[in-house]
Amino acid sequence: MDAIKGLRSAINSKRDEMIELQRALTAVPALGPQNGGEGEWKKAKLLITWLDRLGLGPHELASAPDPRVPEGERPNIIVTLPGQEKQGTFWIMTHMDIVPPGEARLWESDPYTMVINGDRLIGRGVEDNQQSLVASVFAAACVKALGLRPRRTVGLLFVSDEETGSVHGVQHVLKTTRLLGSHDLALVPDSGSPQGDEIEVAEKSIMWLKFTVTGKQCHASTPEKGINAFEAGSHLVVRLGGLRERFAATDRLFSPPTSTFVPTRKETNVPNVNTLPGEDIFYLDSRVLPREDLEQVMQEVGGICAGVERDFGVRVQVEVVQKSSSPPTSPDAPIVATVRNAIRQVYGVEASTIGIGGGTVGAYLRAAGIPTVVWSRIEETAHQPNEYCLVSNMLGDALVMALAMVR
Ligand SMILES: [Zn+2]
Repeated sequence: MDAIKGLRSAINSKRDEMIELQRALTAVPALGPQNGGEGEWKKAKLLITWLDRLGLGPHELASAPDPRVPEGERPNIIVTLPGQEKQGTFWIMTHMDIVPPGEARLWESDPYTMVINGDRLIGRGVEDNQQSLVASVFAAACVKALGLRPRRTVGLLFVSDEETGSVHGVQHVLKTTRLLGSHDLALVPDSGSPQGDEIEVAEKSIMWLKFTVTGKQCHASTPEKGINAFEAGSHLVVRLGGLRERFAATDRLFSPPTSTFVPTRKETNVPNVNTLPGEDIFYLDSRVLPREDLEQVMQEVGGICAGVERDFGVRVQVEVVQKSSSPPTSPDAPIVATVRNAIRQVYGVEASTIGIGGGTVGAYLRAAGIPTVVWSRIEETAHQPNEYCLVSNMLGDALVMALAMVR
């Protein structure tokens, strides 16, 4: 039997069940404690019931302790379909948690009561990340039901805490289990484009810096008695623009193709007009091409700060607020070809590899040495009011995943 024909009709026959699982998941909000929620356990239990019913059990758990939620832990669920080969698992990782609905008046329906409107499912979480979660579940269930033995073992990983830092999610799984290793491959269907033609293989390194400029406060009418931290800080902001010339390499995989250094947040200083500010605090958001060394960026920043200290008599303290980097997955990696072929067969589009500005959970897997692609065909409504997904994308993505499992 032609694998794609059999899989397509198997998945299409599950259409109503997939919508039903979407509805059930939407009705159980899984918000992390930082977002004012009780975590993911209720949603996890529901999912486990479905996994068992679809013949995908037994499951394993790699729960992360978290005293802030009623169960005291955040669940991470793993199910596997044994493959023909011993070594290397093909992982599909999705997340159970959601973000809050945001302003209620912007929603046309209750965010936790899924609405069907033609090809659209509407509700908080239906796209981010339930479209892919449900697709992966039914892809695996159909592969199993058809008796197709995948070459590699297939692993479905359902994680917590994606929206609030992943410390209790994929980071915990990587740190505390030996489930994932460098012989594995991974698909993270948690970002994408409406045509499904972008396979993300690389992220820029992220570095957020906080600058505290300290001078000497005094009355604004006698500036000679103080040192104006705001004025010195303003010169510092302008001089930091020099980073763009110093790290000017380009890589066409990325859009924009260069490293970016952007002054962003500014903390308020003195509340009144007639005080010369003795302290000035601002932040820089840096997205650096993987080929550049973050240590060198820090050295350059240090040199610029020293110049401002010298010229203005201030002290500049630099703190790293956030820093992450991961090696890119090669555009020639087998996982890229596998996913690209499946996309072509299902959607008839030629997907290109891209790099992004950074910030997906794929980076944690790449950092662990696992070739990882981030892909899905989505409407890009995540985190918005009236979030929706297309049933046709959910079915199509399930078929892409099933094909990637059996190839
Ligand atoms: Zn997501």
